[in-house]
Amino acid sequence: MQIIIGVSEIIKARKSIKQNLKIGFVPTMGALHQGHIALVNRSVKENDITIVSIFVNPKQFNDKADLINYPRNIENDLDLLEKAKCNIVFMPDNEDIYNNYQGYQTDLKGIDKIYEGEFRPGHFQGVVDVVYRLFDLVKPHKAYFGEKDFQQLAIIKLMTKNANLPIEVIACEIVREKSGLAMSSRNERLSDEQKTVSAKIYKTMLKHTKNLKPNQKTQEIIQKIKEEIDNTAFLKTEYIVFCEQESLKPVYTLAKNTDVKLCLAVWCEKIRLIDNISLHI
Ligand code: AMP
Repeated sequence: MQIIIGVSEIIKARKSIKQNLKIGFVPTMGALHQGHIALVNRSVKENDITIVSIFVNPKQFNDKADLINYPRNIENDLDLLEKAKCNIVFMPDNEDIYNNYQGYQTDLKGIDKIYEGEFRPGHFQGVVDVVYRLFDLVKPHKAYFGEKDFQQLAIIKLMTKNANLPIEVIACEIVREKSGLAMSSRNERLSDEQKTVSAKIYKTMLKHTKNLKPNQKTQEIIQKIKEEIDNTAFLKTEYIVFCEQESLKPVYTLAKNTDVKLCLAVWCEKIRLIDNISLHI
């Protein structure tokens, strides 16, 4: 496994890869867990060369404390990537990535301003800036993203389409702990007790969406989920929404034979957790 730090080195390495080889790319912020590794495994299976980036992108952190406290564990990351048969790890530094690069502007049709975007202003512009830059450097055929960050996935698909990039953006399902808690680098900051209560987030979503019926008002379901989560020690919901899978438009009344996403963000004391499930009505 080759480790590359510099932007000029990744450009050189990319140029040296034979034209007929397929390249899979997995962008990450490190502190890797089995959710990330599932993306890497899929890339290794579907491509000749897998490139993983590890870069904690300051531009996408609207909260300074979150950036400072973001878990970092490079030795363990490299160990996991080596075992997963990743070919190249790209670990650039901030100055190199943003040297002579102001970011990438594109019309995201407002989907960067709702839900996560409302509570994390500037977050998605930061994501677009860095992913566009990484795509340009790595020039992958396929890029792998987790459905855990469902809105991010929709935004990256839109950006790729707007920019006419010849990259297939591939969605990978959420990997969970046995308890049901969605794996996340930020989970490392939870105590054992907080991890146990946080598993209630997924369970509560499932519990209140078991018998959904057409014409049901989503606000009633949202209210039940919110009450149950907010009545749990440490937990406080930030938002809960039902939305359309593709457009992300909010859904107020459930319609027969449609697919919807239930997405939420919950604070567990100072740690912000997000999760979502897919539902067919
Ligand atoms: P991050 O390092 O948090 O920026 O995540 C890097 C990639 O891994 C993103 O595409 C995430 O959506 C994905 N990812 C993170 N956690 C999970 C998970 N539990 N299951 C599936 N994908 C995940």
